[in-house]
Amino acid sequence: MSDAAHPAWAVYDLDRLHANLAGIRRRCGPGQAVMAALKGNAYGHGAVPVARALDGEGLAAFMTGSFDEARRIGAEGLRTPIVMFAGALPAGMADLVEAGLVPTVVDRAGAEAAARAAQPGGTAPVYVKVDAGLGRLGVALEAAEDFLLDLAAIEGLEVQGLYTHLPFGDARGRGWAEGRFAAFDDLLARLEERGLAPPVTQAGASASVAAGLSDRANAVCVGHLLYGLSPFSDASVADLSPYRPVLAEVGSRLVQVSDHPQGSDIAIAGSFGTKRGRRTGVAPVGAAQGVARPVPGSRPEVLIRGRRAPILAVSLEHLTLDLTDVGEAEVGDTVLLLGGDGEAAIGLGELAAWFGTRELDAVLALSGRLTARYRGAGSGITRI
Ligand SMILES: *Cc1c(COP(=O)(O)O)cnc(C)c1O
Repeated sequence: MSDAAHPAWAVYDLDRLHANLAGIRRRCGPGQAVMAALKGNAYGHGAVPVARALDGEGLAAFMTGSFDEARRIGAEGLRTPIVMFAGALPAGMADLVEAGLVPTVVDRAGAEAAARAAQPGGTAPVYVKVDAGLGRLGVALEAAEDFLLDLAAIEGLEVQGLYTHLPFGDARGRGWAEGRFAAFDDLLARLEERGLAPPVTQAGASASVAAGLSDRANAVCVGHLLYGLSPFSDASVADLSPYRPVLAEVGSRLVQVSDHPQGSDIAIAGSFGTKRGRRTGVAPVGAAQGVARPVPGSRPEVLIRGRRAPILAVSLEHLTLDLTDVGEAEVGDTVLLLGGDGEAAIGLGELAAWFGTRELDAVLALSGRLTARYRGAGSGITRI
């Protein structure tokens, strides 16, 4: 398919996804299985293509967010179990169980509803989420042991997993997380003693894996690191160089090149008054495609012919570019907002900085609005 009708694309590199997973596995060692967090449309990378790419990797589970997303993954007929993060009311449990999904339960009403939806004589598999200190979702840590004892008495219920989430962004958060991991480990030890520990237990996620925290659970659940995104607000917490962003390229093409005499306006009516004659180019990608208006003081650039060209303006559907240093640029030339061209490269960190957001938020902003291309294992062109 030609992209000439609207040249604006994002390239997701599935080889990097596999390489990031290999890095996570090296870091965790053979004692911990890996579950992939696919919520938020696989953090904006496309839940179905990512699930397809990972299905042969022997993951313990795909952890998904919305019911819609889980059903789309389920329709692919993959082998990996699909577990839903908590997000359904008790009255919705039957829909999840009947769709072959594994719900998360956080209260007795939800667990009973899941059990009632089991096939006659069969069981409904569930995971239990514990709030080990984040203060968001889950059964309170102190109540978890009694809760599991209660669930063991519910006919038709099979607790397959027990998990918690303890993300952190900086060194102070790391100290907090170490204490909370220890408390969750204590819970697991008590459950093991009483024979109540489910087959899958998990607390580790991107921040703890990258920072090298270890814990007693037999699995980790990773999102950020899998996609090569930093989970940290403070870059000094851990070395992330083994992980590369799966979003490898964001590009467009020049649809016009023009010359503007000194004193004329460029993209901003009545106020630009360029001090010298300039050559500019226009690429058909803008705020509607998720490109942020640059934070004040930033000097965002794109790559054209392996050289940097400043962005003069971000409009709803267009970028206006200063071609002074790429004077020979022509209509049809590739414009990279992210990616590498020869020696030059614009990384996700640089893009996120002028977007004024975290890497994940920059990826989410661009997700689903550009022609998505996948390269590496199982590639193709699709819209996500
Ligand atoms: C999103 C999520 C994860 C993955 O977190 P990352 O920091 O992206 O690795 C793990 N566990 C739970 C419960 C989550 O909601």
